[in-house]
Amino acid sequence: MQEGFSAFPPVERWNDWVERGRHYSLVPTTCFNCEAACGLIAYVDQETKEVRKFEGNPYHPGSRGRNCAKGPATLNQIQDPERILFPLRRVGARGEGTWERVSWDDALDDLANRIRRAIKGGEPNKVMYHVGRPGEDGYTERVLAAWGVDGHNSHTNICSSGARAGYAFWMGMDRPSPDYANAKCILLISAHLESGHYFNPHAQRIIEAKQRGATIIVMDPRLSNTATHADHWLPTYPGSEIDVLLAIANVLIQEKLYDREFVRRWVNWEEYLRAVRPGTPATFDAFTRELERLYADYTPERTERDTGVPAKTIIEVARAIGKAGSAFSAHNWRAAAAGNLGGWMTARCLFFLNVLTGSVGTEGGVVPNSWTKFVPAPHARPPHPTTWNELTWPKEYPLAFFEMSFLLPHFLKEGRGSLDVYFTRVYNPVWTNPDGFSWIEVLRDESMIGRHAALTPVWSETAWFADYVLPVGLGSERHDLASFETHAGSWIGFRQPVKRAIEERLGHDVTDTRDVNPGEVWEENEFWIELSWRIDPDGSMGTRKHFESPYRAGEKLRIDEYYRWIFENSVPGLPEAAAREGLSPLEFMRKYAAFEIPVGAYGRHEAEVSPEDMAESSVDDRTQRVFTSRAPSPSSNIVPLPAPPADVEGRRAAGVMVDGVALRGFPTPSGKLEFYSPTLAAWGWPELAIPTAIESHVAPSGLDASAGEVVLVPTFRLPVLVHTRTGNAKWLNEIAHANPLWIHTSDAAKLGIQLGDLLRVTTEIGYFVVPAWVTEGIRPGVVACSHHMGRWRVADDQGTDRWSSALVRLEERGDGRWRMRRVKGVEPFASDDRDSRRVWWQSAGVHQNLTFAVHPDPISGAHAWHQKVRVTKAEPGDQEGDVVVDTVRSHAVYKEWLAKTRPAPGPDGMRRPYWLLRPLRPSIEAYRLKAEV
Ligand code: SF4
Repeated sequence: MQEGFSAFPPVERWNDWVERGRHYSLVPTTCFNCEAACGLIAYVDQETKEVRKFEGNPYHPGSRGRNCAKGPATLNQIQDPERILFPLRRVGARGEGTWERVSWDDALDDLANRIRRAIKGGEPNKVMYHVGRPGEDGYTERVLAAWGVDGHNSHTNICSSGARAGYAFWMGMDRPSPDYANAKCILLISAHLESGHYFNPHAQRIIEAKQRGATIIVMDPRLSNTATHADHWLPTYPGSEIDVLLAIANVLIQEKLYDREFVRRWVNWEEYLRAVRPGTPATFDAFTRELERLYADYTPERTERDTGVPAKTIIEVARAIGKAGSAFSAHNWRAAAAGNLGGWMTARCLFFLNVLTGSVGTEGGVVPNSWTKFVPAPHARPPHPTTWNELTWPKEYPLAFFEMSFLLPHFLKEGRGSLDVYFTRVYNPVWTNPDGFSWIEVLRDESMIGRHAALTPVWSETAWFADYVLPVGLGSERHDLASFETHAGSWIGFRQPVKRAIEERLGHDVTDTRDVNPGEVWEENEFWIELSWRIDPDGSMGTRKHFESPYRAGEKLRIDEYYRWIFENSVPGLPEAAAREGLSPLEFMRKYAAFEIPVGAYGRHEAEVSPEDMAESSVDDRTQRVFTSRAPSPSSNIVPLPAPPADVEGRRAAGVMVDGVALRGFPTPSGKLEFYSPTLAAWGWPELAIPTAIESHVAPSGLDASAGEVVLVPTFRLPVLVHTRTGNAKWLNEIAHANPLWIHTSDAAKLGIQLGDLLRVTTEIGYFVVPAWVTEGIRPGVVACSHHMGRWRVADDQGTDRWSSALVRLEERGDGRWRMRRVKGVEPFASDDRDSRRVWWQSAGVHQNLTFAVHPDPISGAHAWHQKVRVTKAEPGDQEGDVVVDTVRSHAVYKEWLAKTRPAPGPDGMRRPYWLLRPLRPSIEAYRLKAEV
């Protein structure tokens, strides 16, 4: 148990805990309301066998017994009177809203037949699995690999692609685990990670550091909750964060506040000089002079003029960072990286500060995520696909992180392909993505999407346009195994169906989670096993064998066997820890639902290459890269370790020579941190190969201030909500249910508007109508609207939860013109939950994302969420919540951004650099574009 929780129910009494006269069984699981997977304890009433509340799990190393508001609200979700309890099949046209109950068997057979036909017909990539929040590591990717399908799709490009690209070009790993708890200085480019995603594990450690005297710096145009706790709030103009970061770097360089030795040993400066200054002697002194020259123009004074951040503040902040040195921690996930054309460079410039201060892999610094995230190997690992999916990995975006998911409607409209079976899984693209009306247009079209199965616990705007709505379990009704980079430590968290765990404690064998879940709600993992068997009933396709028990030859895999094998074979230290308590590893994980992996988090790049790898190694004279012909250990994590896969010549990098010693280094082509990215240079972007400024699409130079144009920041999160995931949590919607437009008092005065006045916000493809929130908590010239609210349904008594949605009318006016008009807002309703009659709030917010065209960054592939908009008073006839959009115009904007790309092939005729991360990485042959031409 973590420190400070001595008052928590002791684990030895979890089988019978008495509170206010009631007897409870306490069952640990993990939260599914954001990716952090914090520990939860379900209090199951022994009399009713129902969960009465959720609290934190003190044995979980990431969350340490604490949760944000969304964790306990899991109770609302499992008790939601409007949740889907039985599989449904569409009757009539898609989107018409008529449904019939269908058996799981019928749905499975129909889907399995179509998938088998696609695979056997040589079109495996007509099967697509599109996931919103995975909440697990590797399970479903394994399923797709077993089918031989390159059909994984994600929400990453509307979320974290920018940040991932920025980090990956530096270190080959696409995010840091910030060691906030031990930091002396923390810089956050925020309003996402520290106020929503990973909120609780990060927030508690940031506050610990602050209590110990750490300096907190926050860049955010809006005064976020995180910014209110900062020593320095830098309300940067959107897109100018890069300039401020480079000005800080300049101060560190000019004032010699950087860690020369770290830079000398671990930056690929020789490669930079060779490529860019071939006439210059390749000495470190020459490189430091080059650094001074490259960043000399980013003076604090000039940056103040360009960004509005005072020069004095930039210098003060830079000195605090320099003083913290190796205990400088920082992170950027969404915010600026997800807002701007070139947003990925924000993370690249932020990490530049970590490199300069030598705070990479250090206590109090940032640890590459693959050093902490632990993904244990399952019993059977099918080979990855041999085909390449052009609908998710088009040649225009060879460097994207990752699938170009939000362009799918445009690709389908262009005739680039079609889908036979499309799974949306806990994903709501109609609502969450930009340009939702284009999604509706393709989801309705059966020639583009043959079958759409929505795997979801609740109704969503997207499920409304499905053929099957298949109810899957909520956080306490399913198994998942996850590990996340919450801090400088490694752990696995075990999500388990709590009622199943109770039955097993009572000695009852549960072979199908539907037996304990409400209605016919199924846990997905069992669904995938069953579906895979039906795709390959006789095993002739080579799929079924991956879903056979490792303990009972030829028998169908049981879900407890899947995890039992992992816990017994793939998690270092777990069998021993379990044995000390007289438990099997599975029993141990059912008891605690979390385990800390006893591995060190710091300094792995400095570890020497193993003698086994060295025995079969060779050193490249020019690059000093150490290659080995030895195969990677089969028991290693399935996530990339700090060594990239075999290169195009089939060699596996094992390390790099540093000062004459072979060290593990980083999984980049050079083995070092790549200040100079030869990848960016070789793939058509030499001007962006080092940390440098990129002008955003919302830069002031592109705005017509005289026409009232301003920047809309539409991405900020509230700490109590997550996208559409929390629409079924009544407590959370009571706390937050409106997304007014934040506008500075000076801007409001110019427009003559007051708090609550209706505004029309016009984008390049339409407009939305929203009330004003007049505040000093935002930078002048910038407006902001939270992206949580604006849920809607088109039928009064079915569809998106009534706790959070407005009833709307969708009007299609021809030629791609749409209008959504609110019929009524949230109101009390009759249900099995007495609280539904007590609903007092009316607002459901406005669905602003519908009015955003797609803005795919040509490098990272990230959607650049910020919008150039005109804010005016609402016009006569406008109503709150109105949305008007032209999807013909949105397709034209897609084409404009497509024209910014520099397509593959790159070197060696490749579609994508082989070393770059990619989910479900296909075989190297599939990477070669020329084979397809
Ligand atoms: S931060 Fe909150 S929502 Fe996310 S996993 Fe933890 S408790 Fe759940």
